[in-house]
Amino acid sequence: MTTEDDNGTGLSRRRAMLLAGATAAALAGLEAAVPTPALAAQSGWRWCLQCGSLWRPGLPYNACPAGGAHVARSWNYVLKVESEGGPGQPEWRLCANCQALWWRGNGNTGQCSGAPMGHNEVGWGTISPRYVLETATANTGGTGQANWRYCSNCHVMVYNDTGTNSAGRCAAGGRHYTGGSWNFRIKYV
Ligand SMILES: [Zn+2]
Ligand SMILES: [Zn+2]
Ligand SMILES: [Zn+2]
Repeated sequence: MTTEDDNGTGLSRRRAMLLAGATAAALAGLEAAVPTPALAAQSGWRWCLQCGSLWRPGLPYNACPAGGAHVARSWNYVLKVESEGGPGQPEWRLCANCQALWWRGNGNTGQCSGAPMGHNEVGWGTISPRYVLETATANTGGTGQANWRYCSNCHVMVYNDTGTNSAGRCAAGGRHYTGGSWNFRIKYV
């Protein structure tokens, strides 16, 4: 009995050590696989009180279509990038000229409040990450806010819970037009 107990304990200890080693190796592997900050979900996005668009402070040029600079007023929104996978619409970018979130999937550069040539994902020493936007019906949960919509006149992301097709101020003139847009859902922290 005593010998069996010792054997049992010895085996358990060896197994525990093996498991600990395997766990450490697995963790080391995970650590090496952690993406660089540039590829991870990005926080710091804000709703502009004046134009109603989603924009990100941090670049020197932040022209607002309503005049002056964008005004940050909101939660701290977080955007998913393409490398994270999961549901959503790709081809969203940060515009280096107006700092708004815009969709370049239409094959042109929309109307930009910061540059006559339109939105641009390159500028001020930065290149925009490639964002994926989830919708109210296809998302990965967590804390989030729906009623974000795409303006088909200027191509930026706009918050619109008015029940109409228009909101904010648009770089194409007048108010943003969000008719026909999906209902996007954006996470915040
Ligand atoms: Zn603005
Ligand atoms: Zn722009
Ligand atoms: Zn617009």
